Amino acid sequence: MRALVVSDIHGNLHALQAVLEAEGDRFDTLWCLGDTVGYGARPNECVDIIRERATVTLAGNHDLAVLGTVNVERFGADAARAARWTREVLGAEQEAFLSTLASTATVGLVAMAHASPRDPVWEYVIDGPGAAIALASVPDAQLVLVGHTHVPMSARSVGDRVTGGHAPAGREENLDAAVRLFANPGSVGQPRDGDSRASYLVVDSDEDRPVRVEFRRVVYDTALSAKEIVDAGLPQQFADRLLFGM
Ligand code: ZN
Repeated sequence: MRALVVSDIHGNLHALQAVLEAEGDRFDTLWCLGDTVGYGARPNECVDIIRERATVTLAGNHDLAVLGTVNVERFGADAARAARWTREVLGAEQEAFLSTLASTATVGLVAMAHASPRDPVWEYVIDGPGAAIALASVPDAQLVLVGHTHVPMSARSVGDRVTGGHAPAGREENLDAAVRLFANPGSVGQPRDGDSRASYLVVDSDEDRPVRVEFRRVVYDTALSAKEIVDAGLPQQFADRLLFGM
């Protein structure tokens, strides 16, 4: 079985469509780790695609801010402005769907959280020690998937050692029973590792056991998504950073 794993789409329809077009029918299930909305100009369309196609969808901090479940005052001024804009344009059906979501999920030996297993909404796991804590907090999982940082990352745990870091396009992690893996697919719609391409990963499982994770990137029309952000009256910085993946 192959799962396509996306996160942090942030209302960027053209990035999400590029990922789905690149993968075609070469996956069996779609998992979304949250922040489907916020920053970008096409939140309703992104929610519709995820609602229709994903078998797991998590709530991220931006989803919850748009719903009013968490206080937008925790965001910077521009992100708060984008959250308020999204709340205004979000349709009733899309809002109802987002309000059903939790921030963690488990599928067999795979544990998922938007941010981290111990703090599913806010914690940033950015390095090996953070990944070690995340892996330790879900000891029954062989694979731990989180989003939130917008930087693709993998960290392998073998025995007492956890090693890893930024995962560029093409990074492959092969798992056997002795290996546990922490992996972050990066961001589809607002990548921040200096690579403007939409970032995601695929997980191949044998029976229920994850055996391989591969990090992938796909080019999309960043100029078009940036233009839509500006045309919507959203903060210019969310448009500019798409062009550089920063
Ligand atoms: Zn995000």
